[in-house]
Amino acid sequence: MAGPDPDHRPWAATRRGIAEQLGQIDGVLPGSVVVRHMRCGKPSCACRADPPALHGPYIQWTRTVHGKTVTQYLSQEQLARHQPWFDNARRLKELVAKLEILSVKALESENRRASTTQATKATGRRQSRRPGS
Ligand SMILES: [Zn+2]
Repeated sequence: MAGPDPDHRPWAATRRGIAEQLGQIDGVLPGSVVVRHMRCGKPSCACRADPPALHGPYIQWTRTVHGKTVTQYLSQEQLARHQPWFDNARRLKELVAKLEILSVKALESENRRASTTQATKATGRRQSRRPGS
């Protein structure tokens, strides 16, 4: 049973919804995957025929490790098994970006409320001082 929301800041429910989606991510793979079909150097090879029977697929997984580009080859089975983790990398970025926007909005709305309160107090002080001046 879900009780009343203890967090009264704006977009609390939306933020919690995003957090739940983030909690479902159980793997993230960085970098990008390119699937290539290639021709070799042999002039008599089937890859030179018309229509060509190209070699491959060669599945290249490229990522940056300590500032260096690293490329590894994956089997089709590996790609199929890990595709959700590659998809998760993009999903993670999107969810974090959304959560960031909503969190900033929540903080800014607090600031607006605070500055309104301060302005009221300041006005109050000025008004209370006025009769004496
Ligand atoms: Zn060939």
